[in-house]
Amino acid sequence: MKSIKTLAGALALVLLTSFNALAKDSYRIIHAGKLLADTRENVKNEQTILIRNDLIAAVRNGYLTAADFDGVEKAEIIDLKTRFVMPGMIDSHTHVTGELGKANLLEEVTNTEADGAIHGVLYLRRILAAGFTTVRNVGGPRNGIFALRDGINDGYIDGPRILAAGYTISPLGGHGDSNGFREGVLHPSSAICNGADDCRRAVRQQIKFGADVIKYVATGGVLSNIAAGTGQQFTDEEQKAIVETAHSMGRKVAAHAHGTGGINAALRAGVDSIEHGTYLDKESIKLFRKSGAYHVPTILAGITVKEMAENTDELTAAQKKKALQVGPAIMDALTRSYKGGVKIAFGTDSGVSRHGVNGRELELMVEAGLPIQAVLITATVNAADLLGISDITGVIREGMSADIIAADGNPLENISTLKKPVFVMARGKVFTGGE
Ligand SMILES: [Zn+2]
Repeated sequence: MKSIKTLAGALALVLLTSFNALAKDSYRIIHAGKLLADTRENVKNEQTILIRNDLIAAVRNGYLTAADFDGVEKAEIIDLKTRFVMPGMIDSHTHVTGELGKANLLEEVTNTEADGAIHGVLYLRRILAAGFTTVRNVGGPRNGIFALRDGINDGYIDGPRILAAGYTISPLGGHGDSNGFREGVLHPSSAICNGADDCRRAVRQQIKFGADVIKYVATGGVLSNIAAGTGQQFTDEEQKAIVETAHSMGRKVAAHAHGTGGINAALRAGVDSIEHGTYLDKESIKLFRKSGAYHVPTILAGITVKEMAENTDELTAAQKKKALQVGPAIMDALTRSYKGGVKIAFGTDSGVSRHGVNGRELELMVEAGLPIQAVLITATVNAADLLGISDITGVIREGMSADIIAADGNPLENISTLKKPVFVMARGKVFTGGE
């Protein structure tokens, strides 16, 4: 009896081991005609990328096959010999559970967090198809975005890797709280706090429920339906409390800021990134450089609301006024911050703009005066650094996540080729192309 048990045990072990060996290692090989493995370096011709499961296992010169790699019996070959291959891009500023439109005010009181998550499934596929294999979602329905993030991580749905902030932290009556509703109508999908202690609580609460990053509004914003301008809203003391608490719990902090005073207060408080940064001045540039904070310009959001204000009746009067002022100023802010030596990370505010047109921001950044290669760095290496995931993604190198895209044409000559990637692989899984 005992020996039978032992035999059965041994057999099970053998089966399990061979099953694991089969399940464990699936190999793919990409033949890249042109490869920009690290956006800070030069393009190399005729390169091979070996992918084991979800990770990059090797990058070698020439077109190699499975036989050229030790321990690789077979590998599917993906022919990108006529393509330009580069790391999957990162959008540091999205809101994937909604999209700006005429019905938004009503949706604020009719949509549940589950609705936001369901809509997010579609929006995230569009963002992934646009070549973005990672997004940082800076505010929205908390349970919805955490479910999307975890669902993608666990393989239930396709989408880019998500780092999520949960609710945006906003002062009472501030940018994250005011939509012009009558008293009693709305529980906003923001975390409202007042005073340093209360703001510490709001930060801790986001982290408790799963926030990877903290987002707060340092100033007013365009789309809050209130004529409160775009100046500083949280006090210096409140901002310091938010940043200190987040940092003490290992979370980075993104501050939404348009007005100069709010930008500089956020930088003094020690934030990791300024979102928009519309009215940044010389003092801001000094503060950026001193602290090493990133500027995430989101020109596309500015252009989108400006175009909406001019051509549609989708914005309210209060929104329209701010849109016409802020919209055109955002591009100029990037021109100034880049010239001033500020670190820039790519971000669109996708959700204000339609999801899936994220690549248009690349063109706008070139229009703002950045060299194409600098733009590509903002969307890969720099954004990975801002998100704290440089050891996972942002370059094509052994040990990194297999986040790989390809363009038909050379983006270094024409950035627009990146607006419609012909191949998208996220964490080793082919989402677009690959024939
Ligand atoms: Zn935003």
